[in-house]
Amino acid sequence: MSRTVRILPEDRWNQELVANVHPPGWENPTPSGRYNLVVIGAGSGGLVAAMGAAGLGAKVALIERHLLGGDCLNYGCVPSKSLIRSARAIGELRRAKQLGVVVAEGSVRGDFAAVMERVRRVRAAISHHDSAERFQRAGVDVYLGTGRFVAPDMVEVDGQRLRFSRAVIATGTRPRRPEVPGLEEAGYLTNETVFSLTGLPSRLAVFGGGPIGCELAQAFQRLGAQVVLFHRHGRLLNREDSEAAELVQRALEREGVRLLLTAQPVRVEKTAEGKRIDYTLGARVGRIVVDEILVAVGRRPNVEELNLEAARVCYDLERGVHVNDFLQTTNRRVYAVGDVCMRERFTHAADVAARIVLQNALFPGPKRRLSRVLIPHAIYTDPELAQVGLTEDRAQEEGIPVDVYRVPLEDLDRAQTDGESEGVLKVVLKRGHRSNPRGDAGGPSRWGPDCRGHRSHLSRDRPGEAFAGRSSLSNAERDLSKGGGRLQPSASDAAAPAMARSLVPMDPLISS
Ligand SMILES: Cc1cc2nc3c(=O)[nH]c(=O)nc-3n(C[C@H](O)[C@H](O)[C@H](O)COP(=O)(O)OP(=O)(O)OC[C@H]3O[C@@H](n4cnc5c(N)ncnc54)[C@H](O)[C@@H]3O)c2cc1C
Repeated sequence: MSRTVRILPEDRWNQELVANVHPPGWENPTPSGRYNLVVIGAGSGGLVAAMGAAGLGAKVALIERHLLGGDCLNYGCVPSKSLIRSARAIGELRRAKQLGVVVAEGSVRGDFAAVMERVRRVRAAISHHDSAERFQRAGVDVYLGTGRFVAPDMVEVDGQRLRFSRAVIATGTRPRRPEVPGLEEAGYLTNETVFSLTGLPSRLAVFGGGPIGCELAQAFQRLGAQVVLFHRHGRLLNREDSEAAELVQRALEREGVRLLLTAQPVRVEKTAEGKRIDYTLGARVGRIVVDEILVAVGRRPNVEELNLEAARVCYDLERGVHVNDFLQTTNRRVYAVGDVCMRERFTHAADVAARIVLQNALFPGPKRRLSRVLIPHAIYTDPELAQVGLTEDRAQEEGIPVDVYRVPLEDLDRAQTDGESEGVLKVVLKRGHRSNPRGDAGGPSRWGPDCRGHRSHLSRDRPGEAFAGRSSLSNAERDLSKGGGRLQPSASDAAAPAMARSLVPMDPLISS
């Protein structure tokens, strides 16, 4: 019988969540015969693989050590986007004056306890989709426990041995823990604990200025915390297009987030006043006292517990499981999907990878390649940032000559009428080419059937919703090739590519 999992606070919403995704008293099935597919890890990738295989009539086992739904449902997309929704409402109300709407000075504030209760309520409601019972009803044998290989064709869970024809490793990642002396003793939050908060830390330090750090720093600042963000690089979101990242950086500063760029925390100590952080910033040293520290400095793949040596699967502790373009590991029976093996660590990327593996692992004949798939991504700050393919900065770093086409959103009527004209649509093409035949290092990057280019797009108008987020990539891809569809849901979004089209001497960006 599985051990009981506790998610704090133990209110009715978290009890509902646990009842769905790690039911107390769950009895694991007794394996009989060889499984067609054993899936280890029940996050976005594992759930899609298991459900898809069961739908095809395969004999499937799904193993999860903690909560079905993985990061996305429990500690990632769902709680963070629910929190950000409340923070966005605050941001909109604070800007309402620009639209002639009177909101009394200082009257807009978040009720943190209510905001967090909503986060838990939303997560509990969504958890029904990922519930153990639902998967069991669909014909999947759900095992709660830690899966580890004991042979190239056998996995052990909770004392039982499961033989398989094919297996999928979908064990995801966990937060990277920075080695700052005193941090462990002082205690800190990660994405696995921050959504359990019920009271707002009035002073919050965020370590890490990547997507998760920026999204949560802005949300907490809007909800009333005084946030200081440490980032070891010279600018936030340093992997994104620099022009777009700069707009996000300016927005955070404008809203009062204190940015300590190129700063390095060197010691943390718990004192009577709070958690004291000593840091260096260039040649200077500084000190700050906060109530809580949120660490978002990257991810580590979950590979150590899998006993991959027994399965003859190659891996390393940084990149995770090594896979080829067919998502096959060094053991031809074993595949991997999602964050544990992919550079693109997004829900929709894990989802599409699982669909590729279903084809490659369960069907004879032509195999599907990951590199043939376009993987966009979005960052849900305000303004949002959405991007696909190589950025202008990366092209420069790699010495690829490019032409860059820009459409400032202030040139768009609808952006002006909405008062949301801070942003830009950017198209980056290989110099002198009407299309870019080479994609990102991860594979060819495609934007519409006749245009292989790269673009980044940043605006208040929620471009992320347009083509990334939780949507399945196969849908996104289909929508792209159909000519927009969900890709461009709003008037301003639809207008931007049209304007870009008129600027760029090339085939239509989005064919219609
Ligand atoms: C704060 C935050 C916000 C995010 N926001 C977004 C977003 O807005 N949009 C987006 O696309 N992506 C977002 N992501 C990323 C997204 O959550 C991940 O890309 C996605 O969850 C990856 O899915 P996965 O199946 O690869 O792994 P996971 O979701 O991590 O699932 C892996 C599962 O495997 C289990 N497991 C591990 N080892 C074992 C074992 N040995 N035996 C059994 N089970 C095991 C784990 O318990 C876990 O449940 C966010 C992530 C975070 C942290």
